Amino acid sequence: EVTLVMETKEGRSGDTAVEDIETWMDKAFDMAKDALQNGEVPVGCLMVYNSEVVGKGRNEVNETKNATRHAEMVALDELLNWCHSSNLDVSRVSRNTVLYVTVEPCVMCAAALRLLNIPTVVYGCRNERFGGCGSILDVSSADLPQTGNTFKCVSGHRAGEAVEMLKTFYKQENPNGINWPVVLFLCCSTGGGEAPHLFCPTRKSSPPTRHSPFIFSERQIHVWVCVHIYILRVYL
Ligand SMILES: [Zn+2]
Repeated sequence: EVTLVMETKEGRSGDTAVEDIETWMDKAFDMAKDALQNGEVPVGCLMVYNSEVVGKGRNEVNETKNATRHAEMVALDELLNWCHSSNLDVSRVSRNTVLYVTVEPCVMCAAALRLLNIPTVVYGCRNERFGGCGSILDVSSADLPQTGNTFKCVSGHRAGEAVEMLKTFYKQENPNGINWPVVLFLCCSTGGGEAPHLFCPTRKSSPPTRHSPFIFSERQIHVWVCVHIYILRVYL
């Protein structure tokens, strides 16, 4: 019976009414503030399906010592668990889920959202360093074979506030700095020969994957890109 009720509502779940944006973004901002108070890059994220939060997350990179634990990735894991425990098909749920996040998703996360066929992403401010929805690369709307579907972006809600939180974070000293064993492990497991490039500032403006040998899997390349991004974020 539960499935039937959800199916009748599916037709409108890609919509994003102004009230919905305010309601869900308020909660995403609360999560971003929590991240800031815990020494993480202040980004908060919610995934909403049929007016229900099925995934939420905030940045956990420092806490987990894992450069890929962005808010969106944490929320995606919750969505997958929710689908599993509700006995619902992941692709059906994700095709009708709106993602709300305080900062434009990075290249890695935008690719993940495409692969899951999330139709709509509502975000606060642009991500001038790593944005995957137009700021650095346009993963959200590019014609990419075998990388899921493009998604619609609705941007700008409380953008100034999101930027201020990021500025506050970057003014503070990163409490954990870099976890070098993790970085070295990731470098080695994703193409050790490329590791020196990670530290070359002149590479900043180039798409990181260009320097990756494409004998590696998509997942490895994503991790590699993320390590690159993480190091640039800490040092530049
Ligand atoms: Zn990300």
